[in-house]
Amino acid sequence: MKSYFLSDQNLSAFVEGLMSKYPVIAPVAKRSRFVFDKLVDVSELRLDYDTTILPPKKVFFPAKQDLIHFNKDGFTSAIDPQEQVLLGAHPHDIKGIAMSDIFYSDREYDNNYMANRKATIIIGSSVQNHYKHAFFGTMNADRGLTGHDAFMTKIEGGYAVDAVTEKGESLVALGAFEDATEAQVAAATEVNRKAEEDCPEKLNGTAAEIREKVRNSFDSPVWDEFAEKCFSCGSCNIVCCTCYCFDVQDEWNVDGASGSRFRLWDACLTTEFSEVTSPGGSENFREDRGERYRHRFMRKAAYLNEQLGGPACTGCGRCSGACTADIANPATVINKILEQ
Ligand code: SF4
Ligand code: SF4
Repeated sequence: MKSYFLSDQNLSAFVEGLMSKYPVIAPVAKRSRFVFDKLVDVSELRLDYDTTILPPKKVFFPAKQDLIHFNKDGFTSAIDPQEQVLLGAHPHDIKGIAMSDIFYSDREYDNNYMANRKATIIIGSSVQNHYKHAFFGTMNADRGLTGHDAFMTKIEGGYAVDAVTEKGESLVALGAFEDATEAQVAAATEVNRKAEEDCPEKLNGTAAEIREKVRNSFDSPVWDEFAEKCFSCGSCNIVCCTCYCFDVQDEWNVDGASGSRFRLWDACLTTEFSEVTSPGGSENFREDRGERYRHRFMRKAAYLNEQLGGPACTGCGRCSGACTADIANPATVINKILEQ
């Protein structure tokens, strides 16, 4: 890994260089919030964003994704990965991408996700402003950053830029980079440490404590207490960096012979998620709101914690902000379980 410095004055020229070679997906303003979107003009770039409405997983795994196109002669794959750059992902969102990489390649290799993922160069950026519900400083803080190609940290006068992979190193030719001084590297380390320390919300347990306590809380009244207010809307799932369930559907054209098979993001908090057909009707194996609510926390904090070595949660806080009933905050719920 090599460290560089890019001055504030040279940032726009570097991003324009990127845009001349690749589509660049980056944080841009959308009304009072931010979203990851394709940059049309460099002036739209907002590296000072707090969080985005949806996490960057949508770049590899869109909310609706065609899988195959079919007709009477057979079918063809709809996968068409384009080389692209994801610019400005925060460290905790990069950790979310690294977890998704495991979900989509560990047991079953999902080429619909992985083809887009491999075609994407990821340039991370430091947190300059905190989202009011973020707790990434106490959620998997000891899990190292992996999967990105370069990382930019805002320091005085510009950015300390780490080129992590060969792809990351190749981007240096697109801008007026200088070798970083020891003081600039040290300043970047301190900025990223402070960003974790300054998170507005905190989680009080280690990965192992969370795993054990949540697993042993299956019969706790806490789930029903929170779930009493749940609308089963699924918003907490939809905005989550690490939710990866989807529903597959076929769409037929009017000729009745051709069409496409696509997948849509799914949400385990909704009533339909766990509904299956059975002889003579249908069966719902998590009919009760409390069961669905508990399932979300069991998955993230206990079951996947065992697979990943830490909770399947980045501490981004998007679920807390998206929940109208104000009951989705993992820090609040897990801290309550830890106190029991
Ligand atoms: S559970 Fe909430 S805080 Fe954790 S990754 Fe998902 S949206 Fe972010
Ligand atoms: S966002 Fe809140 S109300 Fe909606 S399903 Fe999730 S916990 Fe329930």
